[in-house]
Amino acid sequence: MTAETIAQAGYQVDVFDAKPTAARKFLMAGKSGLNLTMNRPTEDIIAAYWDGRDALASAIRGFDAQAVMGWAENLGQSLFTGPTGRVFPKAMKASPLLRAWLARLSGLGVNLHTRWRWRDGIGGDMVFDTPQGGQTRRAPAVIFALGGASWPDLGSDGNWANIFASAGLPITPFAPSNMGLICDWSVHMQRHFGAPLKSIGLSAGDLHTRGEAVLTKTGLEGGGIYMLSPALRSGADLIVDLLPDLSLGDVQNRLARPRAKQSQSNFLRKVLGLDAVKQALLMECAKRAMHTPADLAQSIKALRVPYTAVQGLPRAISSAGGLPFAALDANLGLRDHPGVFCAGEMLDWDAPTGGYLLTACFATGVMAGKAAVDYLNG
Ligand SMILES: Cc1cc2nc3c(=O)[nH]c(=O)nc-3n(C[C@H](O)[C@H](O)[C@H](O)COP(=O)(O)OP(=O)(O)OC[C@H]3O[C@@H](n4cnc5c(N)ncnc54)[C@H](O)[C@@H]3O)c2cc1C
Repeated sequence: MTAETIAQAGYQVDVFDAKPTAARKFLMAGKSGLNLTMNRPTEDIIAAYWDGRDALASAIRGFDAQAVMGWAENLGQSLFTGPTGRVFPKAMKASPLLRAWLARLSGLGVNLHTRWRWRDGIGGDMVFDTPQGGQTRRAPAVIFALGGASWPDLGSDGNWANIFASAGLPITPFAPSNMGLICDWSVHMQRHFGAPLKSIGLSAGDLHTRGEAVLTKTGLEGGGIYMLSPALRSGADLIVDLLPDLSLGDVQNRLARPRAKQSQSNFLRKVLGLDAVKQALLMECAKRAMHTPADLAQSIKALRVPYTAVQGLPRAISSAGGLPFAALDANLGLRDHPGVFCAGEMLDWDAPTGGYLLTACFATGVMAGKAAVDYLNG
């Protein structure tokens, strides 16, 4: 996005990427449909960021959800907005958009150098490891967009943070975000691996959401869990409401109906509509807390689901941490390095899934690009 902005202003741009092909994480994001942005008012979007909200605000106002949609449509992508406002290409993948984007960049004269790993020099002499050995390049303006630290095999391995730290720049340690939970399930859970817990309420610390989670061999995944990332990362209890449409009183009243000779599982299914997966989680987590109907109702409405840890960076969708905004001026320029700018997930912000991640990357990319053009224009 930065390259596009600068090249459109008439400057020559060279992009250097450590990997053999460009935008591997963008392509991976396409595997789940490529949620490009959120079709909501700009201020609501800004308010959804967990961290870095104030610093991101002007970038997102400058390139908001409507701008993201217009940009993607201009690259030939028909889009649709899902029921919760999430925007996707109708193709539900990233490759057609990426192909059109790379063709546009090539048409603008942008040179893409793959297998060039930057390893030293913040502005001035920039040192790269390349298939032809070590190479040095200089440019009048430099933009870093080296990514966060999740899914390191896709290219963004976070190693840049060590180079920045050696140069005296502050770094907030990386932490997994939008990650699953690791749970120590008993054998009884095995037959439910892969099954969704639909339409549940989830809370951790001050965060509350409604959504879905999927039971997996190792624990729990899914949008409902990701929405609680900051609280779960700091060890808050996960509390699940298995029936968020019913009050505790409703559940108690229904449990008071005559059970006759029905098995408990049939009874729970009939009077409460609790499916087999929800019942399995209830039995797994509330064994000792179900002696009376009142205990049972309480467990159904506020089930504490124990977890041993959160998933680590290798499989988290995004990472928190990175370069703090304090090291940057309002235009994403490094304070102590004139002509050097930073953009994307390498900056220290954090957001839920829902298109917020790419939106912040696009917006900061455009902002850093415009700032670099202003700098080059003197
Ligand atoms: C499975 C998955 C699904 C996702 N789905 C969505 C989604 O639907 N919607 C959404 O908004 N977000 C999604 N994301 C997050 C989104 O993809 C990222 O936030 C976004 O790609 C970050 O963009 P970036 O340009 O900052 O960094 P990256 O896309 O990580 O790009 C950084 C680039 O820098 C290169 N690089 C790193 N170090 C060096 C170096 N030393 N020298 C040279 N090159 C280097 C890397 O090779 C890489 O190409 C998803 C992420 C994952 C992992």
